[in-house]
Amino acid sequence: MGTLEQTLHGVLQTIENAAKLAGRPRGARLLAVSKTRPADAVRALAGAGQRAFGENYVQEGVAKARELADLGLEWHLIGHLQSNKCREAAEVFDWVQSVDRLKLVDALDKARPAGRPPLNVLVQVNVDGEASKSGCDPADVPALAAAVAAAPHLRLRGLMAIPEPHPDPARRRDSFRRLKALHDAVAAAFPGVDTLSMGMSDDFETAIAEGSTLVRIGTALFGPRG
Ligand SMILES: *Cc1c(COP(=O)(O)O)cnc(C)c1O
Repeated sequence: MGTLEQTLHGVLQTIENAAKLAGRPRGARLLAVSKTRPADAVRALAGAGQRAFGENYVQEGVAKARELADLGLEWHLIGHLQSNKCREAAEVFDWVQSVDRLKLVDALDKARPAGRPPLNVLVQVNVDGEASKSGCDPADVPALAAAVAAAPHLRLRGLMAIPEPHPDPARRRDSFRRLKALHDAVAAAFPGVDTLSMGMSDDFETAIAEGSTLVRIGTALFGPRG
């Protein structure tokens, strides 16, 4: 184990190499997934230069964002969102990656405080049709994307998904490919769509090879969750 700075540098280097290999000079951004990690761990990684952090639970994310407000970090909600949490989410987060139904679009739009820039939104897709997983049906992506794009206090940026953690890497690659195709269709229909959030600690190089622009990484940065 090296220092946190070395770990961050190593992950960034791996991302850059994967992007180069894929012929993508603009590379992919790193979202540090800080769920279950104390605010001090976020502060330390921010000290090493990381700016964007992802949280799964509204309450936990709000607490950390408020405690670390002096750092001016970028906060992403990546976990399932209940409609009764939309107000707090829209007040504190900079991005919500888990919009998977129309009800959330309306609630987030109404709750985004005046005077803040539009809330960046990704439509979450249940790309492998798993019964227990959040995310909309791929067939519902165009309608949801249109609703987000039409909401004055939201800004449609793209798609997010957590593919089925299939042991066969070829199956995972296929999920990433289907997501990329969905994303390209959305990007062709709506200006400003520039983000495809896919890839986690154990598959982010494959995700980048298949077109990810934002990888969400927890374990590879902070170590195993307790
Ligand atoms: C926890 C989580 C991650 C990060 O997973 P790691 O395997 O720790 O990198 C990424 N995305 C979502 C939606 C998560 O819930």
